[in-house]
Amino acid sequence: MPDLCYDCVVIYFQSLTRDELADLLLPFSARPRDRHVDADGTPLVELNDAPSLPEIKRARMRAKQIYHWVYQRFVTDWDQMTDLNKEVRGWLKENVEIFRLSERHAQQATDGTHKFLWNLPDHKTIESVIIPAALQEKDKMENDGKVFRGRPSEEELDSQHWSRLTACISSQVGCAMACKFCLTGIQGLDRSLAVHEIVTQVFELRKQAPITNIVFMGMGEPLHNVDNVIKACKILLDEDGMNFSKRKVTVSTSGLVPAIEQLGQSVDVSLAISLNATTDEVRSKIMPVNKKWNIEKLMETCRNYPLGSHRRITFEYVLLKDVNDTMEDAARLLKLVRGIPNKINLIPFNEHSGSEFLRPSDETVRKFQRYLVDRGLTATVRISRGQDILAACGQLRSIFGTARGSDRHKDWAGLKGMAGTS
Ligand code: SF4
Repeated sequence: MPDLCYDCVVIYFQSLTRDELADLLLPFSARPRDRHVDADGTPLVELNDAPSLPEIKRARMRAKQIYHWVYQRFVTDWDQMTDLNKEVRGWLKENVEIFRLSERHAQQATDGTHKFLWNLPDHKTIESVIIPAALQEKDKMENDGKVFRGRPSEEELDSQHWSRLTACISSQVGCAMACKFCLTGIQGLDRSLAVHEIVTQVFELRKQAPITNIVFMGMGEPLHNVDNVIKACKILLDEDGMNFSKRKVTVSTSGLVPAIEQLGQSVDVSLAISLNATTDEVRSKIMPVNKKWNIEKLMETCRNYPLGSHRRITFEYVLLKDVNDTMEDAARLLKLVRGIPNKINLIPFNEHSGSEFLRPSDETVRKFQRYLVDRGLTATVRISRGQDILAACGQLRSIFGTARGSDRHKDWAGLKGMAGTS
């Protein structure tokens, strides 16, 4: 039984695991003759009163009902939850708020990608993206000789025959990691998101579309906000809530070694490492985090990561022309991932005006991929989606009310951007 403060500030529903919600509801599960009620009718539980098993079961059942209402039926009005008694609904109304993100702007790209800019209560903004993947594209990437053949045709993209809908969500406002190829990195870190702000992005997107996958690859380094990301993952995986499969929730990191270990010990989700270079010299130049945790340390952590059976770590590799796209890089990459169940996700850089980096040619991408595939690796090329609305990988950033970058870009539709991964 947690310490309860019925007079204190609002509790956000989306910050509660189902067990925490059940704990809060315990006082309503006591049999009437055991209840203690204060002057306002608020039920109290003596701290020394150990709840009985039936009381715990009743509270759990209620928490499950509420999780169903909110996360599976998208009901956000306590009064509509008709299988809860009046007393419980009254208490929830007073004390627990179902958090909503207000949409500041939404855009749709020609390839079906949707980008959303959300207002936060403190007037900061974050972005989330829905990325559709067509069956044809999947076939093209994964089954058709396993080698990149270029972007799918307009007809293919028009088919609307999606194999999956991925929600790419943010974990911070801005990012402190300062990866050189990433638009979010330029912005700097403003603040980390609270659990309810992370979970609610998925809630809002799922209300609009049958999201099948979640990737923490929007704004921010998820593992720089590791406690909140772990808790958010637990809520997203809850079978009585949004019920995402652990295989379909992916946390991507630039390589915060201690937090990778913490993630692995705390929650079973998929892990992606934004690697992007095969030597410390290059990686430290484009990803400052490498100066603290170098490639050797990072790969050792990956080797020890507690992976479930048939699970693999995804290594993301943004291909930058003449920086990390040589055959020597491909050979070193092959060596680095040896002994780690892996798949490689190659991401040709999304160019933008003003960036010091260029996208390699399709031929170079093909050769790099072919080298890895021919040596037995699973190496796919990510077709960046939503480039015309700056929703492609690493192109997200909060453009209003942020520490840096707020003055320079006030025109959402007119932005031109760049690429990154985690
Ligand atoms: S690539 Fe990821 S970790 Fe690096 S700056 Fe961008 S958002 Fe941050």
